Order: sequence, then C-alpha cells, then structure tokens
Amino acid sequence: MALFLCHRHMAGNSMRRSWQKYRSVPIIYRIGVAFILGSVLGLIVGEPATRLEPLGTLFVRLLTMIIIPIVFFTLLMGARRLSPSSLGKIGAQTVFLYIITTGVAIGFGLLVGNLINPGTGLELADTNVEPEEAPSMLEVFLNIVPENPVGSMAEGSVLPTIFFTIVFGLALTYLLDEYDAGTTVHEGAQTVFNIAETGAEAMFKIVWGVMEYGVIGVFALMAATFGQAGVSAIVPYAKLIGAVALAVGLHIGVTYLLIIQVGLLRRSPIDFLRGAKDAMVTALSIRSSSGTLPVTMEDADKNFGVNEEVYSFSLPLGATINMDGTAMYQGIAAIFAANMVGQTLTLGEQLTVLVTALLASVGTAGVPGSGLIMLTLVLTQLGLPLEVVGMVAGVDPILDRMRTMNNVTGDLAVTTLIADWNGKIDLTGTVWEVTDKVSSVTSTD
Ligand code: ASP
Repeated sequence: MALFLCHRHMAGNSMRRSWQKYRSVPIIYRIGVAFILGSVLGLIVGEPATRLEPLGTLFVRLLTMIIIPIVFFTLLMGARRLSPSSLGKIGAQTVFLYIITTGVAIGFGLLVGNLINPGTGLELADTNVEPEEAPSMLEVFLNIVPENPVGSMAEGSVLPTIFFTIVFGLALTYLLDEYDAGTTVHEGAQTVFNIAETGAEAMFKIVWGVMEYGVIGVFALMAATFGQAGVSAIVPYAKLIGAVALAVGLHIGVTYLLIIQVGLLRRSPIDFLRGAKDAMVTALSIRSSSGTLPVTMEDADKNFGVNEEVYSFSLPLGATINMDGTAMYQGIAAIFAANMVGQTLTLGEQLTVLVTALLASVGTAGVPGSGLIMLTLVLTQLGLPLEVVGMVAGVDPILDRMRTMNNVTGDLAVTTLIADWNGKIDLTGTVWEVTDKVSSVTSTD
C-alpha cells in the first residue's frame, strides 16, 4: 500500500513538473508546435480530421467575445496619448507623418497581397460566410460614423466603435485640460481613463487565457484544414511569409530609405540602416516595439544625433501608435482570408481595410503578437472568418518579427525627418557626419 502511495506521489510530482515545463515555454511557440502537429495529423488522417473543427470554433468564439471591449479600452488609452494640448507643433507633425507612413504601408501590403494572393489553394473546412454586398467608397466613409455608438458596439461593428472611442477619448483629454485638478469633471475624466487602463489590462489577461486554449484550438483548426486540403495547403503559408517579407522590404526600401532619407533628407540610406541596425535587430529578436524602445532611443541619440526633446516624445509615441508593419500585415492577412473563402476584396473593401487597420494600429500595443489579436478587428469589419486568426497564429512568430522590425524602423525614420525639419539634430559624431562632410566638401569645391 505504502509503495502504491509512493508511486502515486511520484507520478503526481512528475506531472506537475511536466506541466510547469510546458507552461514555461512562451505561448506563441506552444501554438507553433500545435500548428505543426495539427497539420501533420490532418495530413495523415485526411477528411475525418475535419471532425475536430468545433474545437477550433470554440477558440474563434472566445476571440470574438473580447473584440469590442478590447477596442474600447485600448483605444481610449491610445487617445489619451494623442491629447492635443500635449502635442504642440512637433507632436502634430509627428502624428501626421505617422499616419501618412502607416497609410502607405497598408497600401504596400494590399498591393503585394493582391499580386501574390497568398491564401489561394487553402480552404476553410467549414465556414458559413455569406458573401456580403460590397460597400461603395462613399458608404465606407459614411459607415465610419455610428448613428448609435451603443448599437454599433452591441452589433459588434468594429469601425464605428473605433471611431466613437477615439472621439470620446479625445473629448476626455480636453476635459482634463479644461478643468482644474480636484474638480468633479477632471477627476471623473481621470477615473474613466483609469478604468480604461484596468479594463485594457484585464482584456489582455483574458487574451492570454484564450491563447492557452488556443493551443488546442489551433491544433484542431490546422488538423481540419490539412485534413481537407492535403499537402497543397503548405504553399499558401510560404506565400504568406514571402508576401509579408516583400511588403516590409518595399516599405523600408521605398518609403523610409528612398523617399525620407534620400528624397527629403538627402542623406545616405546605407548610413540610416547602419544607425538603425541595433534597434532593427533587437526588434527582430524580441518582437516588441515597446521592449526595443531603449535601444531605439539610443540609436536616435547616439547614431542620428536627434535632440532628446524630439525623440523622447516621438519614439515612445511611435512604439505605441505607429505600427506600419502591423498595419501592412493586416492588409495582407485580409487578402489571405478573402482568398480562403473564394472572395476578392472590392476597392471599397480594401479601403475599409485601410481605414480599419490605420485606426486599429493606434490601439495596438507594442508587445509580441498583439498584431494578431488586432487582426480580429479587420476581419470582423469585413465579415471574413475569424478562423484565419487561429490559422495564421502558428506562423506568427516569424511574421511578428518582420512586422516589429518594420515598426521600429518607421519610428526612427520619421523621428529623423521631424528632427531635421525643426533643426533639432546635431550631426557631430553620428553616422551622418561623414556623408555630410562629403556633401559639404563637394558643394564648396
Ligand atoms: N509585436 C509588434 C510590436 O511590438 C506588434 C504586432 O504584433 O504586430 O510592434
């Protein structure tokens, strides 16, 4: 008997140890393994694997549950940082450039997505997507403004909810400025922001809980997908990774290097890359713009000679609201999803992607994998299946690296431009110094 109890105790201990070991692996890698195992199971078992689909559907429902609360809480926090009174001229220029560059990034994403059509060849095992009447351009813009914000939230309409939340958040920041501390209105506005901050934290706790289940959900989704599509389903994933790499390369090459560095600043693009490489490599490895922030600031200060007055504002702001890579990825992923259900996105729908991804990037946190959660917003807005989130989650560690690298490079490119425009840059001892000497020598000759 004693021996039996001892055996049970040991078994319990080893189970606990295995569980702790399992939990110590970052969730996104566990999802990656589930993605591979599910795909392999689907390939081996074939059609019967589609019976696992309901386990995937549960994952999708859990994600859907948090969409509207996450939009509301995170965007209120985003709007607080955009407070017009704290922005000033440099701030306004920065926000403007952040918006423009993000818009261009989404454009590149859509362009590459339309050329490659990464999702063709992949079909969802079971979806009940009804092709919706495509909205016209005018409708896209009009539909951003809700007739009834509460109604939009209740219906789960993402874009009007985003719009209302940003407007509401900005109104609160005005109240904070207008009313002195201690007054009911000031304290009330502060309380709403505090609640939003807590709410956002709570939602991210839920997200990670959902992701724990996601290990099973993604396994089931992949088993069902490969069970139905067979080995040919590998190609779309390779195309998706290739499309993101191409779009990131284009945006960095054309927007940051050619247009900003060469065209507007007349500086060497190679020097820019030399100066930004620490931040780029860090972002690639840790997949977080916020985590990379100290390195990004160091690069701006030491390598580019940007005045602290500029980068201490523009870089933290960029790490939270300027997500070119993330927004671009939303465009590609939307086309990937549309391909999977045999739809083509109309011009109006692509415009919807642009507006939604642009606004959603304000609320995207600069932490690993947050772009994946924000993808739910774009897909919901377009009426595309949320299963896609689970299906791309397995390759997200790769995609996230590229997105994050693009995000921080964008922050630095805009920061150098703003600093230059406002004369807040000192080139002595920076990567630019040589280039500048070269140009001044040639101009005095
Ligand atoms: N990881 C990205 C960042 O921190 C956000 C994302 O998931 O796209 O910038």
